[in-house]
Amino acid sequence: MSEEQGLTVKKSGNFSEWYTQVISKAELADIRYNVKGFLVHRPWSVKIMKNMYSLLERELEAKGHEPVWFPSVIPESFFEKESEHAEGFKAEVFWITEGGSDGKKFEERLALRPTSETAMYTMFALWIQGWKDLPMKMYQSCQVWRYEGKATRPFIRGREFFWIEAHDVFATEREALAQVKEDMETTENIVHKMFCLPFLFLVRPKHDTFAGAVNTFAADSVMPDGKIIQLPSTHMLGQNFSKAFDIKFLDENEKKTHAWQTCYGPAVWRIFGAVVAMHGDDKGLVIPPAISAIDAVIVPIMFEKDRKEVSEKCEAVKKSLEKVGLRATIDARDNYTPGWKYNYWELKGAPVRIEIGPRDVKAKKVVLVRRDTGEKTSVDEKNAAEEVRKILEGTQKSIMEKADGFFQKNIRDASHFNEMKKLLDDKGGLIRTNWCDKQSCADDIKEKAQADIRGTLFGKTEKIFNKCVVCGKEAKSVVYVGRAY
Ligand SMILES: [Zn+2]
Repeated sequence: MSEEQGLTVKKSGNFSEWYTQVISKAELADIRYNVKGFLVHRPWSVKIMKNMYSLLERELEAKGHEPVWFPSVIPESFFEKESEHAEGFKAEVFWITEGGSDGKKFEERLALRPTSETAMYTMFALWIQGWKDLPMKMYQSCQVWRYEGKATRPFIRGREFFWIEAHDVFATEREALAQVKEDMETTENIVHKMFCLPFLFLVRPKHDTFAGAVNTFAADSVMPDGKIIQLPSTHMLGQNFSKAFDIKFLDENEKKTHAWQTCYGPAVWRIFGAVVAMHGDDKGLVIPPAISAIDAVIVPIMFEKDRKEVSEKCEAVKKSLEKVGLRATIDARDNYTPGWKYNYWELKGAPVRIEIGPRDVKAKKVVLVRRDTGEKTSVDEKNAAEEVRKILEGTQKSIMEKADGFFQKNIRDASHFNEMKKLLDDKGGLIRTNWCDKQSCADDIKEKAQADIRGTLFGKTEKIFNKCVVCGKEAKSVVYVGRAY
């Protein structure tokens, strides 16, 4: 393999450089477009993200959400209706101010949506009249734009990214709170079980709540470099937005009541970045079969004299896989050696490689190579599809177990500030500790340990095991601390 083809750094040696090389060498994205925070997405990443989208969309629709597409522009007057929300997003909005060849200024500026609460809730106020219209659960798969000041990174932080936003409206607070739990289950079913990303679902502290929300709940995971990454989050909006947007309904007693709302935002683009970072190895991508672009790649090993037999065998094996719903491709390119192709498909994380040469044709065998372990087996060609399926199941399971094991190891307890700081410096991850609930202690953690209080565990009160990690006074809750992307 030429130096240009493979990765030249080890993941454990230089994670940041490893990530950069994987993005370009596995042909996920091209950064040469050269507009800060905007990325050119290549087919391989788009195919995987489309699979991620479709699993999430199916799950949301099964739970009563309906798809919508809203305009990508939001008039400034809509945007400003909920003042905390407007204030919180102010620094991140791209504004469209003029159009046409004479640069005619618009009477009202249009925000390029950074998130769609203010667009959707303007319409929800028109759509919701009586209690029979509730609950109303909608989602859209779309791009959003945020004027990001920090350094951008493909699939981790950008000025344009791809996500799903689900917006739900209920008649009662109880139903809205139940939705938070449902969103956590959606995250478990898809982000954990399908994408193999473990997480803790945390209740963010008040000072770190989404602009305009009553409470924010977020799934935090740990990346290989020990940094924390936020996966989906859900916001309990209470009646803040329904009051600002006048979303009212006539209840059963003919009384006008403001609705209760939640929103949920799985950022597919960023979750994809976490998939790349978490599961990849020194050879390149390792993608959970549940979302991989293909299941198997067939690499013919042939010389001129046996070209016909080998090609025919490859086609036959491909058909036998497709017959049972597996997705296979044949890499028949003439200008590359089989060895080069092996490396190429390992880099791209094809879960199974099928090698077929003249000897295999004679023996009615095929060689299967499993991407995540490198394990190689020779199987009867008539069992190829069944054996591939078994490998895929095994791969999905072991990618998840490996990630779970890594995550569990990276949640550590600390009772004292120096102990916490040392763990953050040496290993990162999430530190479980005790907090008095005072903002000043949270600020101290930020300033002296360069870390954030990520929150308390959702749905469970953990037993306090020491005094506040900062001030030494009585602790009010067990919290998780980490350094985030
Ligand atoms: Zn304290």
